[in-house]
Amino acid sequence: MIDGKVVAAEVRARAAEGVRELAAAHGGRVPGLATVLASDDPASELYVRRKGEASEEVGIRSIHHRLSADGEPRELLELVDRLGADEEVDGILVQLPLPPQHDQDDVIARIDPAKDVDGLTATSAGLLARGRPGLVPCTPRGIVELLRAAGVELAGAEAVVIGRSILVGRPLASLLLNVNATVTVCHSRTRDLAAVCRRADVLVAAVGSPHLVGADMVKPGAAVIDVGTNRSEDGLVGDVDFDAVREVAGALTPVPGGVGPMTIAMLLDNTLLAARRRWG
Ligand code: NAP
Repeated sequence: MIDGKVVAAEVRARAAEGVRELAAAHGGRVPGLATVLASDDPASELYVRRKGEASEEVGIRSIHHRLSADGEPRELLELVDRLGADEEVDGILVQLPLPPQHDQDDVIARIDPAKDVDGLTATSAGLLARGRPGLVPCTPRGIVELLRAAGVELAGAEAVVIGRSILVGRPLASLLLNVNATVTVCHSRTRDLAAVCRRADVLVAAVGSPHLVGADMVKPGAAVIDVGTNRSEDGLVGDVDFDAVREVAGALTPVPGGVGPMTIAMLLDNTLLAARRRWG
């Protein structure tokens, strides 16, 4: 089992050390992460609160902005502009999804790419697709970090990613390609998903469909990463049938306690990275 909590604790400890070093070299100044919550979705409220708390724990200043869920789109866009111009802010995170009156693409496009700690702007996506240094979405970064920590060889590996969202599937495919894996991306129109998955040395499920991946879809010894977070009567369950797949896989992440803790840890690392680049 790949324990995301253990690996995430290591990433956080490294981030805390990095913040201390940066502050020491810049007269005590610390990086700032601005979080923006523009909805009243309880899950989003919880995620944003956790991100703020995790920032403070490693010494990053958390600056939180709460907008009314029925607020005007212009108000959110102006806030994102102000945060872009604010010298105290190194990272901007607009919690998604947004209420329907907002155009998500418009909001993302207004984020200063130098502060795009969620890695969602076209600039960040373009740099990643070209294999150039930039800010990479937190969940895919966390997945690659987990695979590394588990000692999985990625160069030359056959990697299959199920899901093609801009948040997880697409950036993960680019990241895996950049470390020389042979990458296949599957989606809802993929023919014979099970046969494609059985080829994988590294299989990542980022779908949002409980227990979609069964033991018959996994090559013996494969590393399987479960990104799915599905709420059920039994609590949180992943996209992978954990009990069945653990009999076949060589390495497997649980839900919860796998990818989830890595997402927040990588956000802290991205904020530190953005601050280092901005401060020179
Ligand atoms: P998303 O935007 O809804 O994308 C889901 C993807 O799955 C789409 O590309 C869709 O294909 C594909 N898909 C749907 N049904 C399929 C099927 N039967 N066979 C193959 N592919 C199928 O979701 P997301 O934002 O990427 O998130 C995916 C899951 O990860 C969710 O459960 C989410 O909660 C979780 N998540 C967890 C974290 C974390 O930190 N733990 C972070 C982000 C997301 P089409 O493109 O063809 O529609």
